[in-house]
Amino acid sequence: MRIDVLGVGFDNLTLEQAVEKASRIKGGYVVTPNPEIVWLARQNNDLKLALQDASMVLPDGIGIIHGARILSRPLKERVPGIEFASAYIERLASENKKVFLLGAKPGVAELAAEKLRKAYKGIEICGTADGYFKDDAPIIAAINEAKPDFLLVCFGAPKQEIWMREHSGKVSAGLMAGLGGVLDVYAGVVERAPEAWCRAGFEWLYRLLKQPSRIGRMFKLPLFMFAVIGQRIRGR
Ligand code: UDP
Repeated sequence: MRIDVLGVGFDNLTLEQAVEKASRIKGGYVVTPNPEIVWLARQNNDLKLALQDASMVLPDGIGIIHGARILSRPLKERVPGIEFASAYIERLASENKKVFLLGAKPGVAELAAEKLRKAYKGIEICGTADGYFKDDAPIIAAINEAKPDFLLVCFGAPKQEIWMREHSGKVSAGLMAGLGGVLDVYAGVVERAPEAWCRAGFEWLYRLLKQPSRIGRMFKLPLFMFAVIGQRIRGR
């Protein structure tokens, strides 16, 4: 049973368990909602459905962990999308499996591919494409030709979740995962917060300091927390 946080059900798994579960999914997709995405899903029904229909829903962001705790339904741990992707790619590399990188600005996925090939010996990056295409057909054709075991879909929310739901079962990919800015981080275009900031639960603050333009999006975090407290008071 999933743990409900403001209408989004989360799988209660450790990172290790999430990787194990991922290896058993055939043809589904993984989503990694943070508080901003949960908030967005309250207004966007397509996103809500995409989260509901996912094969696995992982809590990306300390806000979800706090929210679940406030609602007295604690989750085991935060499973950030990037940590899930890295751990899963490491496992796939040991089995010489194939990964396709889809999303981010032109050139970023290729750069990420170079870095991943060096970091994970044994992995085959079987295709790359940017996330600003107008027509789905050539992208789908490239994926179906490459037949990846893992397809990273990095368009940001809600585009990536809605795209994965629409294409689930229609593309030849073992598993898809919606991972936001992960290709930017793999490529080295955007820096991830240092380990100590992540562990202290301040990754969001680091991202805000590095990219002040995110301020509008960050305002959804207090709204999310107020709604959680409201849900707690109403006893649901
Ligand atoms: N992006 C894309 N296609 C679009 C819009 C965005 O490929 O139509 C990419 C964008 O270039 C960036 C990623 O999606 O690489 C979104 O990153 P962001 O940091 O906003 O996502 P988060 O990690 O916060 O979910």
